[in-house]
Amino acid sequence: MMKSSNNIAISFPAIFRNFLMRKLSLKNYLCLLIYFQIKINNYNAEYSHMSSQNIYILAIESSCDDTSAAILCNDTVLSNIVANQKIHEEFGGVVPELASRAHQQNIVPVVHQALKKANIRKEQLHAIAFTRGPGLMGSLLVGTSFAKSFAYGLNIPLIDVNHMQAHILAHFITEEGFKKPTFPFLGMTISGGHTQIVKVESYFNMEVIGETIDDAVGEAYDKSGKILGFGYPAGPEIDKRAQLGNPKAFLFTKPKVEGLNFSFSGFKTAVLYFIQKEVKMNPNFIAENLNDICASIQYTIIGILIDKLKTATKETGITQIAIGGGVSANSGIRKALKDGEHKFGWTTYVPKFEYTTDNAAMIGIVGYLKYLESDFSKNNVMASSRLKI
Ligand code: ADP
Ligand code: MG
Repeated sequence: MMKSSNNIAISFPAIFRNFLMRKLSLKNYLCLLIYFQIKINNYNAEYSHMSSQNIYILAIESSCDDTSAAILCNDTVLSNIVANQKIHEEFGGVVPELASRAHQQNIVPVVHQALKKANIRKEQLHAIAFTRGPGLMGSLLVGTSFAKSFAYGLNIPLIDVNHMQAHILAHFITEEGFKKPTFPFLGMTISGGHTQIVKVESYFNMEVIGETIDDAVGEAYDKSGKILGFGYPAGPEIDKRAQLGNPKAFLFTKPKVEGLNFSFSGFKTAVLYFIQKEVKMNPNFIAENLNDICASIQYTIIGILIDKLKTATKETGITQIAIGGGVSANSGIRKALKDGEHKFGWTTYVPKFEYTTDNAAMIGIVGYLKYLESDFSKNNVMASSRLKI
């Protein structure tokens, strides 16, 4: 390809002379056309992301225990850097004070790396988007303060983003091999801190129609895992073992919660009492039945989620379902959703794994959509730990 382009370039002055002297043969004319086409294609490939229509957003996420920064060019992710905080593992859960200190240490290098990986200078940015809430106050304050001062320093707009909206709008990041939902659809966010079903009419018209009244589904995994002796987070380990066990070996009752709300704290207690009772009779009960226990826990949790989705689709008449949050990595929920496509006529969407857990790319897509509407924040915008959709 390169070779043919060079050959054409060498013969170009002669062709051009012929063109001026009106001696252009059809062959010369075609060469000239191909030459310009190649030049235009090369230019487009090299500078397409630098055209004046392109909007560059720096996004910052610091709501819980992951510090993340991303650069988006329109709805495409150029970089998405996440610094996980290992410090919490030894405590079996996130320690808020340690999380905010770690964010302070991480934020500058993470933003620096995001810019570097995207090959973008800070002067090229059009706006800075940040997670305003919900989340841990100390953690949110680090991201909010950083975003505010950086935007002020660069004299560009600041865009505040609701973390829960971002989990849902992550589906609108353009990514090869992933389709985007059309409106209306049901968004189900399942993570370590949240469990929600949201009716989504348009980008910024969404309504929570069901949520947990106590623990989140990720907590149900993590707390059950702790009882079994797993480290934090326990979800991936339970998922792995569940695939090797019998899901109907042990029966856990599902909590009875009216409507579309969820409850998981009773489930964790049921697992605890069951294990305590069995271990009293057989001290090796956990070790001897670990895969079956995990499979039974997973079977019950997925049953709860799918039952609620069935009710939600019936009540709303909406059969498009888009899931997000760390628990959407679960193999069982993915399979159950696929089965739902055949059994109930659902259309389901699961985003790329790196956009399911806490990440700045999902903050960036909301930032981009708000940028298009010139929906900017005031300078005195505050972090809000209980921000609602
Ligand atoms: P948050 O930031 O709200 O704590 P994340 O979106 O970071 O939540 O997701 C973390 C949660 O996801 C943890 O509770 C973890 O146990 C759970 N998780 C991750 N992978 C899986 C899996 N394969 N199966 C079940 N739960 C999982
Ligand atoms: Mg997290």
